[in-house]
Amino acid sequence: MSDCIFCKIAGGDIPTELLYESEDVVAFNDLDPQAPVHVLIIPRRHISSLLEIGETDAILAELQSAAIEIARQRGLGETGFRLVTNCLEDGGQAVFHLHLHLLGGRRMGWPPG
Ligand code: 5GP
Ligand code: ZN
Repeated sequence: MSDCIFCKIAGGDIPTELLYESEDVVAFNDLDPQAPVHVLIIPRRHISSLLEIGETDAILAELQSAAIEIARQRGLGETGFRLVTNCLEDGGQAVFHLHLHLLGGRRMGWPPG
């Protein structure tokens, strides 16, 4: 999608250090980190939100597997981490290209704000 910032990152149009790359998934650091580790894991193709994923689409499992691999690489395998996906307005979604937030390196609060 031409005006989508995450499509531009995935396509290399906005130079960004990619922490993980596969055929379908890329990951990079969040611009405004909310924890010592704050990585965004996204599909290469444009999917606007969780609600747009087709029933037979395996992309969620791929995103989660990538997130777990990155979490281990970043040393979160012992202490744990949080995976978050915000969906639409009430969920607090600001960028309408599906992404998982991998957050770690500090104790997370609950309930979320
Ligand atoms: P959302 O609120 O949609 O779940 O999260 C969007 C996230 O994308 C925010 O944490 C924000 O800091 C991050 N973000 C927005 N624009 C950019 C960008 O151009 N580059 C990077 N690396 N992160 C971005
Ligand atoms: Zn996009």
